[in-house]
Amino acid sequence: MQKRTWNTDTVNKVSDMVVVKGWVHARRDMGKIIFIDLRDKTGLLQVVFAPKEVGGAYEFAKTLRAEYVVEIKGTVQKRTEKTINPKLETGTVEVLATDLKILNESKTPPFELDKDTRAVNEEVRLKYRYLDLRSERMHNNLALRDKVISFFRNYMHEHGFIEIETPILIKGTPEGAREFIVPSRLHGGKFYVLPQSPQQFKQLCMVAGFERYFQIARCFRDEDQRGDRQPEFTQLDFEMSFVEREDILKYTEEMFIEMVATVAPEKKLSHTPFPRLTYVEAMEKYGTDKPDLRKNKNDPNELAFCWVLDFPMFEKLEDGTIQAMHHPFCDVHPADLEKLDSDPMSVRANAYDLVLNGYELSSGSIRIHKRELQNKIFHLLGLADDEIEKKFGHMLEAFEYGAPPHGGFAPGIDRIVMLLAGEPNIREVMAYPKTGDARDPMMGAPSGLPPKALKEAHVKVVE
Ligand code: ASP
Repeated sequence: MQKRTWNTDTVNKVSDMVVVKGWVHARRDMGKIIFIDLRDKTGLLQVVFAPKEVGGAYEFAKTLRAEYVVEIKGTVQKRTEKTINPKLETGTVEVLATDLKILNESKTPPFELDKDTRAVNEEVRLKYRYLDLRSERMHNNLALRDKVISFFRNYMHEHGFIEIETPILIKGTPEGAREFIVPSRLHGGKFYVLPQSPQQFKQLCMVAGFERYFQIARCFRDEDQRGDRQPEFTQLDFEMSFVEREDILKYTEEMFIEMVATVAPEKKLSHTPFPRLTYVEAMEKYGTDKPDLRKNKNDPNELAFCWVLDFPMFEKLEDGTIQAMHHPFCDVHPADLEKLDSDPMSVRANAYDLVLNGYELSSGSIRIHKRELQNKIFHLLGLADDEIEKKFGHMLEAFEYGAPPHGGFAPGIDRIVMLLAGEPNIREVMAYPKTGDARDPMMGAPSGLPPKALKEAHVKVVE
């Protein structure tokens, strides 16, 4: 069998006989000839069926409908000057078909795939996500996401990091959100939870001496779906040993500048180096800890990064209890150590955020690496000794075996790609996102389970 040619490679094969495969994007009958736009993963290609060609392909082509899957044999020919289509990568050529094979038929899709599908009802788009993803915009978004992720992976490797996978079934790690729980079949009445982030494991990788860890990490948070949240999302999670805040800011800033120049060279950065604001300055000047510092908010190519530093260590909830503003593993700002006992609410954490165009891209901090201080923070957060031991005994113990000073960061991949792609929400840059209320209309998740499965998991559903 003749080797298949990608659509975009036909431009280099004028006069050759080729076999192309893909989907019928559109069919146009022009009296004596039929045109189809054939779509494959590389793009569109015009194929011509003319009655004088041998093999009967012309008659057969009359039965083609949108989204049929076909294999076509034919000759690549140069288009005449007048018929060149500058909008297509293959616009200088077309294939004159001699053979047509229909590999599969297609029902009429529930919405048009050659238009911007953002106008289509989202429930329908998500139910037929595999069709929605056929559209050019969604293909481009996922290709951009792939570029961003592979840029980060390469950059991390070039800078001495190794990627380490951490478990998905874990014991809870408190980061302010509710956790998804997974009943254990083998240990009746016990539960795993899904990680809100690899926070504790990455810190333990530092205790383990890896010094530079990263992971393209899936994170899970069972939150009420407000705004543009998803129950699962992806972070570029990383951690470094023997560093101070400045090292992490510098590393991250250089990485982001290079990332933009590499994957989105049409974008321009409003300010380099990235401006730095303290939390107090940001709140006083902009009334938010994620200020939008763009000079022209209508310019789709402007990217305004900034740092927000020195977040408060603690915040008071409405019920008067104290909670860690970021998470309880953040180190105390060196200048505020003295005030931990006398005035804890005024203590700053050695924590920092990276903000882009008014979105929080990432939070991070230098971490506590000594048992005594970590224990003290847990106490200030109102935890009793036995609770601390039960929840965090392993961290405290690890800190007693030569834990190095360390710190890290975790930029959100979905938001980065959303902003680079100019999309209004992160669902547009995720292959299979959930609806606003955390459902998957395609698979039908979440769903009930048969009584046997529930019984094995020791789960009883109460109304
Ligand atoms: N684990 C943190 C988060 O998910 C990030 C970090 O402190 O590195 O926000």
